[in-house]
Amino acid sequence: MKVHQQTIIDFKSDLLNICVQSVDELSSEDRYFGLLQDCLKQHFHIEKSCFLLNVDNKLIPFNIDTTLEMKYSGFPFLLFETYFFQQNNISIPYFVKEKEEFKEMTHMVLLNAKDSNPYGVLFLKTSEAWEELAKSEYFDQVISYLSKTAYLLSKTVEVHFNENQYRKLYNMTDLFHSTMDIDLILENVLNTIQSNFPNFNVELILSNDQDRHTTINIKQFDYLSERPSAIEAFVSGNITTEQATDLNCTLLNAPIKGRQAIYGILQVSAPISFVFSQAQKDFIRMLAHASGNALENAKLYHQSHRLISDLQLINETSHRLNMNLDISEMLTFLQKQLMKSFQPMELCFVFIENQECKITDACTNLFKTEESQIYIEHVSRHFEKSLDPLFIADFSRLIAEEVRYKSIMAIPMIVEQHITGFSIVLHRDSYFFSFDSFKLMQSLIHHSSLAISNSILRSQLQEMVDHDHLTKLYARSYLDNFVEKSIMNDDSGMFLLIDIDNFKKINDTYGHHIGDEVLVQIGQLLHKVVGTRGICARWGGEEMAIYVPNILEDEAVRLAEEIVEYIPKITNPTVTISAGLVNWHKSERPEFQSIFLRADTALYNAKNGGKNQYMVYEETMQPLQ
Ligand code: GH3
Ligand code: MG
Ligand code: MG
Repeated sequence: MKVHQQTIIDFKSDLLNICVQSVDELSSEDRYFGLLQDCLKQHFHIEKSCFLLNVDNKLIPFNIDTTLEMKYSGFPFLLFETYFFQQNNISIPYFVKEKEEFKEMTHMVLLNAKDSNPYGVLFLKTSEAWEELAKSEYFDQVISYLSKTAYLLSKTVEVHFNENQYRKLYNMTDLFHSTMDIDLILENVLNTIQSNFPNFNVELILSNDQDRHTTINIKQFDYLSERPSAIEAFVSGNITTEQATDLNCTLLNAPIKGRQAIYGILQVSAPISFVFSQAQKDFIRMLAHASGNALENAKLYHQSHRLISDLQLINETSHRLNMNLDISEMLTFLQKQLMKSFQPMELCFVFIENQECKITDACTNLFKTEESQIYIEHVSRHFEKSLDPLFIADFSRLIAEEVRYKSIMAIPMIVEQHITGFSIVLHRDSYFFSFDSFKLMQSLIHHSSLAISNSILRSQLQEMVDHDHLTKLYARSYLDNFVEKSIMNDDSGMFLLIDIDNFKKINDTYGHHIGDEVLVQIGQLLHKVVGTRGICARWGGEEMAIYVPNILEDEAVRLAEEIVEYIPKITNPTVTISAGLVNWHKSERPEFQSIFLRADTALYNAKNGGKNQYMVYEETMQPLQ
């Protein structure tokens, strides 16, 4: 059968038709080359054909039915070129036919681009019409048309593909500029690369990210266990590739690089025989670079926010601590701040007094139990030797016993180079607290230490002012205040003024020192009898007073009776007392001065009435002289 010129003209016309098809109408490159295959089938009865193009010196098929493995492995292009030394349309080599997808192919044709540079090969299952054509004078012409068309198509597909790829990259960077959400950025990097390499495995390996809790699948970069090619990429900032025979894949590591640092690696694993083209590497590099910058921006943004809020926290804390709060208010405030900032599960403040640890009330429940001992002991042993704060990421590694809480931060309160106490925060999870938190807590406690110790000194001083040194009873000024408030707020009250009978004689007989002891004995008794119902105070030299709020008159009388009765029994040398009792009721809230005056009057009457007795104040009593 002779080849008709008309066939060639029709063939040419169909090729032209394919060229003018819009790229957008074609869903994929496979379909594009499918049109060429259809054309060969129609005009030369070629049932099976496959276009293979030279990509980075590998012949890559553009057919729908090639397997993924084939698509990635390819044949070395240089090897094929040599086959076409003298003629085109030659029998296909045996090793090609060995591949399942090419077993029916019989011939192959070298495809040349416009300047006669070979750029691909056409495999085909020959037909009678094709054999005729090969022998005819038209063959070179047909191959030339076919080559040019296929070349044009491959270039169009490439441009189209690149455009798509860069559009994705553009969309991604566009998003990066509009968000500071680190998770969103990372998720997008993964999605973009996955959509470009749907059959490859993509992994993000990030360093130094322990304080972020994310839902995205991110691996921690670990210097000790990462592959050398990944470490090299991370350290050098350049893309590395590796044929990982142990994993049966080819790995590409692209550093996620910002202006200030490298934050990790984007690792793409392809089938072992796959070779990444320069264009693919460039694309991945750009993507990793864009994400590195976005990540850096977001990190800096979050960091500056955190720094501002840390400063605000320290500022607010210092401000509050300078407001002269009392110590328990101060610790409660600090407890609240620490809980809010670091979200520990347990927290305590401990003071060291005479080398003993005293857990304050500003603590969580754990520190009210025995279980807390192991933490307190470990921390206090550390502070016996060192002024440095403690940061423990996994306590269970340091200790043989089972422990419930693994993360520990313990910061000492240091005043004038001395540890006066410390604060501990705990969390069940290991590696829970970040180093930034540690630094912030250190700063907070450091700023608070002086205020806390001042507050302790102030309260100790107040304690001294409020108490009588000898008898440990309250001082008169404290009693005055107490009574004044009670008269305003309570329903009733009793005031008992006590004076030791003939005390001068005791002093004269036994000495002042023994007299003092008697005062102490009486103080202890009063304290015991009154208990928490009211307060006992030293009123003056050998005069004492008790005040009990909200007490019925009967009860007050019994209390006075008891005191008068017991004092001679418990004092050594024995003394008796006289006392004046005043009761008040809310129906008549007296001036507090007048209460003292009345008690004095009653006492005076008791003395005059023979001592060793109490008298209840009455209006009719003989006034003081
Ligand atoms: P009266 O029964 O009238 O109260 O006789 P009195 O001897 O107790 O007389 P008065 O209350 O006037 O005397 C108070 C004496 O108490 C004077 C002083 O020597 C003694 N005194 C006061 N304060 C102290 C003290 O702190 N320690 C000792 N040991 N004696 C004190
Ligand atoms: Mg007296
Ligand atoms: Mg006296």
